Amino acid sequence: MHDNLKDSYKQIIAAVGEDGSREGLLDTPKRAAKAMEYLTKGYHETLEKITNNAVFTSDADDMVLIQDIELYSMCEHHLLPFVGRCHIAYIPNGKVLGLSKFARIVDMYARRFQIQEQLTHQIAKAVEQVTGAKGVGVIVEAKHMCMMMRGVEKQNSKMRTSVMLGNFREDPKTRNEFMQLVKN
Ligand SMILES: [Zn+2]
Repeated sequence: MHDNLKDSYKQIIAAVGEDGSREGLLDTPKRAAKAMEYLTKGYHETLEKITNNAVFTSDADDMVLIQDIELYSMCEHHLLPFVGRCHIAYIPNGKVLGLSKFARIVDMYARRFQIQEQLTHQIAKAVEQVTGAKGVGVIVEAKHMCMMMRGVEKQNSKMRTSVMLGNFREDPKTRNEFMQLVKN
């Protein structure tokens, strides 16, 4: 994959009218390929692998909230970054997941070409699947470079998506509790 990517970046540099042989650009295809590999490494990860040995038995049944997980992804329409934050809440049903694993789940799906709506949905489904929770709520807030740097050039617009599963969907009280906690 690496050599393919490297050659592709060489072509992009030439196609935009640059001289790929000038000093500053000589190693750029190699560096860009490495960066792109990193930004798409989620394609090579699985939920089973990243949550391995981190699901614990627990009789807690109060809402667990993990707030402000940093999120870096790339929109699949322009291959430009979108960056923001993710909030995840769930109500355990006999099992809890180690804290760091929520960040790993977010990263696994964010390090792919994405649209924010789908990313939010995948994170929620993954948490539901791994924990068997009674309910899961996920909110993603992100700024999209394809909006900010090109097109309509709206620098301050933020996109907010949410997915509610189980009792977060069915019970307005649970959903509101989550929304209120995230606001603070
Ligand atoms: Zn875009």
